[in-house]
Amino acid sequence: MNADSLRKILDLERQKGYADTAVFGGLDKFLHNWSARAVESVSNPRLLARFHKLFKAGYAAMTPEQRHDWVQDVLGFLDDIESKDSVAQKPAVIPPVPPARKRSVPKVKKVPAPPVGPRLDSPVTIVKGISTSLSGKFGKLGVKTVRDLLYFFPHRHIDYSKMKLISQLVEGEEQTIVANVWQAQETRPGGRRSAEAIVGDETGNIRVVWFNQPYLAKKLTTNTRIMLSGRVSLFRGLHVFQSPEWEIVEGQDLIHTARLVPVYPLTQGLRPRQVRKLMKEFIDLWVGRVPEFLPPEMRKRLNLLELPAAISQAHYPEDEVTKDKARVRLAFDELFLLQLGVMSKKRDWQESRPGSPFDIKKPVVDKFLDSLPFTLTSAQDKVLKEILADLGQTKPMSRLLQGEVGSGKTVVATAALLVAAANGYQGAFMAPTEILAEQHFATICQLLSKLGQEEGEGYLKSYSGFLERPLKVALLIGDIKQAGKKQIQKQIFEGDIDILIGTHALVQKGVGFHKLGLAVVDEQHRFGVEQRSALREKGFNPHMLVMTATPIPRTLALTLYGDLDLSVIDELPPGRQTVKTKWLKPNQRESAYAFVRKQVKESRQVFILCPLIEESEAIIAQAAVVEYERLSQEVFPDLKLGLLHGRLSSADKDAVMGEFRGGGLDILVSTPVIEVGIDIPNATVMLIESADRFGLSQLHQFRGRVGRGEEQSYCMLLAENPSEVARERLDIIENVQDGFKLAEEDLKMRGPGEFFGTRQSGLPDLRMAKISDVAILELARNEAINLFEVDPGLERVEHKLLGHEMARVWAGAAEWS
Ligand code: ADP
Ligand code: MG
Repeated sequence: MNADSLRKILDLERQKGYADTAVFGGLDKFLHNWSARAVESVSNPRLLARFHKLFKAGYAAMTPEQRHDWVQDVLGFLDDIESKDSVAQKPAVIPPVPPARKRSVPKVKKVPAPPVGPRLDSPVTIVKGISTSLSGKFGKLGVKTVRDLLYFFPHRHIDYSKMKLISQLVEGEEQTIVANVWQAQETRPGGRRSAEAIVGDETGNIRVVWFNQPYLAKKLTTNTRIMLSGRVSLFRGLHVFQSPEWEIVEGQDLIHTARLVPVYPLTQGLRPRQVRKLMKEFIDLWVGRVPEFLPPEMRKRLNLLELPAAISQAHYPEDEVTKDKARVRLAFDELFLLQLGVMSKKRDWQESRPGSPFDIKKPVVDKFLDSLPFTLTSAQDKVLKEILADLGQTKPMSRLLQGEVGSGKTVVATAALLVAAANGYQGAFMAPTEILAEQHFATICQLLSKLGQEEGEGYLKSYSGFLERPLKVALLIGDIKQAGKKQIQKQIFEGDIDILIGTHALVQKGVGFHKLGLAVVDEQHRFGVEQRSALREKGFNPHMLVMTATPIPRTLALTLYGDLDLSVIDELPPGRQTVKTKWLKPNQRESAYAFVRKQVKESRQVFILCPLIEESEAIIAQAAVVEYERLSQEVFPDLKLGLLHGRLSSADKDAVMGEFRGGGLDILVSTPVIEVGIDIPNATVMLIESADRFGLSQLHQFRGRVGRGEEQSYCMLLAENPSEVARERLDIIENVQDGFKLAEEDLKMRGPGEFFGTRQSGLPDLRMAKISDVAILELARNEAINLFEVDPGLERVEHKLLGHEMARVWAGAAEWS
């Protein structure tokens, strides 16, 4: 029998993920022919029985798991039969096979194959080896479906591919040896039950210790052949392997040693070896089911790996080069799909009804600018011109305004809102938190009050002096008293309010605008896609201005916000000082408090930012209360402290902020709600607890809360036990003031996915793409643009699969911005 041809086919089938693609026309046909011939050479009745049993099954009808098991069985069978055969061949006489036997060659039953097997979006529990409890653990890591598991990539790989002989081992490097176990025994170094072994190759012996793993002593019997990967250290002048990765060599694919070994994200109850083993089996079995969605022509032209290969190489790469190719392919996918999605949003947007062109009332704008106590920086001036030019167009404005904290975006937005009002349209200004909305309300009112006469109080103010009629500005947030809210809603509906400032309360039911012409969204990356589009829906294709203090490198901005035009305020108003930033060791806490006290004595004010805990808003608030009490009773009993957190009613928040702003409080203890936009010029100290938990951009935002007045300001960072990455971040924030540089560093360290919180923003996930991938980014962008030109609806046959993938990836992301 020709066992080798079958073996080759089965091997190929395994590599292709048991997709029944190893032979043209399907395996069943091949097996039918093969077994008809092979059965003749099987004489041993027991083996014959096994033969029949094995080849009776219809391969096409099996699930991937069944196929996997079946292939294993057949391979085992072939091994058995060959060893038996070789014995049996020596005697010259092979008993003739009775003709009847020939007859009994099983006809492969014609079971119609299901069109699709278990689908990639089935829950992970259908994967062999994943129980319900295990699936819960994977769930914690964001892995719910088979597809998630395929894309559950390791953080990194350890390079155990460097094979050495024992005599060549050097200290400190990751190295691998293959050796024989001479003896292994349980030991108790320092009372810890451990295993110790002596292993050897042709060049020498070495001692190996595994702390806390006594069971290995039994497992590693004498003469077991094992791979060991890890670092070697010197102990009493001799080399010793300490707790290396180990693997018994039995001709199988190695998964823990002697290769690039993946390091997977773990959670409680998941062990590295367990996850590696599970992933290897899973990937081998399933990856062949992942459809290649890139058009073949494109994939070949760009020299990208095929998708199944890319996925399996991202997990268990052959070598560094292939690993890199895999990442390039996967990163390309992410950025390409992102770009295509963003472009099709833009198309929808442009093809929808025209917006309302405004008449740019220059006298109104000039009057406003003249009334300000400062002149615009040239960057502000340039950006305002860009915005006003947009507002004059029939095509609704769709612009992203980027500008460092404190660069003066609000003034620019206010000027635009005035133009809307002067044209008889309403303007809306949406902020991510109530505190910010309140502050914007206060700021905008203050800006307007420089010229216009102010009337009214609380949530509704009115200014004369700009327009022929009074200009009305209102605040709408979640917990304004019901009656007041009703009143404001009524006035908005009747067109009696010109500028409405608020939180997402603006987009809730019950808020109907009379004639919304301009929507401004502040700190846009903190809003969900739905909220932004809901705001847009409130008007008749209003102009949109979205603002962010997060500087985004241009190429990335073009990809992420391909549908927005970009304006940048790249200059701070004159006289801004740098905030002295210092990362303090835990034992310097007392001196930090002393410094706070000293500043308060000089009539300055201080922010103390509470530890970040990744819990519910309620728990964060509770922790803040505890910290506030500790500080006010034990540390600063003689000073006036206030507390701010997200759970306070808006009246209480107002009261606290008002008191702090007015100088009634020395110290404001706060949760990270204070992150953006808060503007208190007399505050000179920002003390951040558990600074190691925050990203660079966030720390920079916090720091931006001080240094807004004349006085030298300070930012102190406390971190109890920072990780290595956190130390790196703290070092950077200590030394870099430039928000743009920080954002780039942040992107480098976290990757755009985490950086932008793509999940909540409704953007597809970015896992493989890195900000440093400018080349891939540009490639993906160009490909998307070209493809879009020839087939924007992805309707051609060769783009069908791509269209499906697009729909899948963008499902739920109903509209972007
Ligand atoms: P952003 O929203 O960009 O963080 P803001 O608009 O809140 O910044 O402005 C920060 C502070 O700078 C405000 O107090 C504002 O009045 C002030 N400001 C804005 N533009 C200028 C300018 N050209 N010169 C001086 N101060 C300015
Ligand atoms: Mg702002």
